[in-house]
Amino acid sequence: MLDATLTMKLRQIVGEKHFRDDKEARVAHSYDGTPMLQSLPDGVIYPGSTDEVSAIMKALSEYGVPVVSRGSGSNLCGGTVPVEGGVVMVMHRMNRLLEVDLENLTATVQPGMITAAFTAHVEALGLFYPPDPSSMKISTIGGNIAECSGGLRGLKYGTTKDYVIGLEAVLASGEVIRTGGKLMKDVAGYDLTKLLVGSEGTLAVITEATLKLVPPPASKKTMLAMFKDLYGAARTVSRIIEMRIIPATLEFMDNPTIRVVDDFAKLGLPLDMEAILLIEQDGDPETVERDIERIREICEAEKADRIDVAETREQAEKLLTARRSAFTALARLRPTTILEDATVPRSRIADMVLRINDIAQKYGVSIATFGHAGDGNLHPTATTDARDKEEIHRVEQAFEEIFEAAIELGGTITGEHGVGLVKAPFLEWKVGPAGIAVMRGIKQVFDPQNLLNPGKMFAKETRKRVVIDRG
Ligand SMILES: Cc1cc2nc3c(=O)[nH]c(=O)nc-3n(C[C@H](O)[C@H](O)[C@H](O)COP(=O)(O)OP(=O)(O)OC[C@H]3O[C@@H](n4cnc5c(N)ncnc54)[C@H](O)[C@@H]3O)c2cc1C
Repeated sequence: MLDATLTMKLRQIVGEKHFRDDKEARVAHSYDGTPMLQSLPDGVIYPGSTDEVSAIMKALSEYGVPVVSRGSGSNLCGGTVPVEGGVVMVMHRMNRLLEVDLENLTATVQPGMITAAFTAHVEALGLFYPPDPSSMKISTIGGNIAECSGGLRGLKYGTTKDYVIGLEAVLASGEVIRTGGKLMKDVAGYDLTKLLVGSEGTLAVITEATLKLVPPPASKKTMLAMFKDLYGAARTVSRIIEMRIIPATLEFMDNPTIRVVDDFAKLGLPLDMEAILLIEQDGDPETVERDIERIREICEAEKADRIDVAETREQAEKLLTARRSAFTALARLRPTTILEDATVPRSRIADMVLRINDIAQKYGVSIATFGHAGDGNLHPTATTDARDKEEIHRVEQAFEEIFEAAIELGGTITGEHGVGLVKAPFLEWKVGPAGIAVMRGIKQVFDPQNLLNPGKMFAKETRKRVVIDRG
């Protein structure tokens, strides 16, 4: 429970209706998109400006109370679960597009703006913001920045970090810093902008972002290549890149995913394929035509069983939406869906998928795999039931082995979903003890009282996946 004087101060800062400590608000902010994790905060606050965030942080640091910044809570790593209680700071009121600068091709935006609303706005102005996490209809720009989210267009266009060029952020002390700006070049000191991107709410509260925009591609073409041979699909991915073609999208779905996606989106996909690649190229019309033709030839050489090229933009959108809905479609199968994002060099995709299948079989659990093949970023997704403790234990063992396999194949424990709570016990596997020590040092400088999203990124113990039930 929060100190009564602090509660009064917080109410004064944001106004009576923007601070809540009733049970409903606390329960609603005790969990996020990650299954099986819950912990009650002591209060929930909805700031309306940077000044308010600054005043909140000053008050919380005076009383030593933790704070979890929160966008829409769609993260899949337990990133907004307030494991040490304290206050959840929801950024949704700070949701304005402050400026689109048509001369510099930048946009300045508050963190609570929904990603898809932002994208739609800049597209209406004839501009393009490429990062497109599948959750973009619900996620916020602040959440995307704090997780360095990727998406279907990551292969050609990069991820959120490639578009964030300036930030305003409030430190744990309440001080406000500005990093970068509307600058395409800036080497003045350490790159604090990039440091804050992907910092998962552990270093500062992001209150404003300047984002780089690019001209939109003139045309797009989308195709599906279907394979009975998993290795054929994987070799196709490598061959496309080897041939110096960088598609805008190069996505993979395995057979279990194909089945549920088809049932969900009614696409009439052949259900006997081991893998489907969803490929999109964009750019000027001649390049797009040429690349799609060359990709078709590669698919044929690798013995694709069927190749469909979308005739219309509507057809293409349907295919992209189907891929984006893979998680939702899988979530219909069983009560609990656990999605991970082990990432390997793209040349090792087939090996990784086979390792995932073997591991799933070994532990008798059901895992479907889809993901961003071009980035080597796979989403092995377990459909399970959190009430069955014994099965959940097997799922956890399976994922532990999957992370191990990813690292063994030269990969990482998370490509885009972040470390948060769930992957914290595995972070040392990837960065080593010296890497952890450097990261802890950075955390200490930004947040000496450990108030910003405590319990995330750094685990008390390595290796074990944690299930926490507090309050
Ligand atoms: C169906 C589904 C599909 C998804 N697809 C993708 C995908 O394709 N690619 C991908 O990368 N992710 C994906 N995700 C994960 C998730 O949507 C992203 O991580 C997203 O960026 C989170 O945004 P959010 O607004 O919900 O942030 P939240 O979940 O609220 O927060 C995420 C993290 O950011 C921090 N944070 C939020 N706002 C701020 C702020 N203003 N300042 C500082 N820290 C802050 C939080 O403390 C937390 O650590 C998916 C999730 C779902 C449920």
